[in-house]
Amino acid sequence: MGILKEFQELINDYSHDSTLRPRLVFLGNKVAKLVKEHTALKKEFADVSNQLANSDARQSKKVSKGELLEYQGVLFMRKPDGSFQDSPYCPTCKNPMEKFDGFIKYNCLQCGITTAFTDKDLPDILKELK
Ligand SMILES: [Zn+2]
Repeated sequence: MGILKEFQELINDYSHDSTLRPRLVFLGNKVAKLVKEHTALKKEFADVSNQLANSDARQSKKVSKGELLEYQGVLFMRKPDGSFQDSPYCPTCKNPMEKFDGFIKYNCLQCGITTAFTDKDLPDILKELK
């Protein structure tokens, strides 16, 4: 039985107790708020864990310097077909830079470097590279 249901049963059991019932209702509301916050935090933790797992997977694909072209202060990897990957690499660490939800610039997780350009500039930069 869930804790909220237990509180509801307690409140029902003591519905005629004018001293205990308001206290149970007060505590029940507090517990409901905590359960809601706990659920939201669990979801947020799962999202962040997934982002980190994806980031680790991308970092394991660290590239060598010869495959990268420096432009706009960061590096771009040329693909076998001659075009460039649509995400920049850190000029210092050579790791793929990440863009997290809600952010418009790319960021290196290892050294903290941020791109001068935004995600909206990237298509034009990729055209300039060709
Ligand atoms: Zn870096």
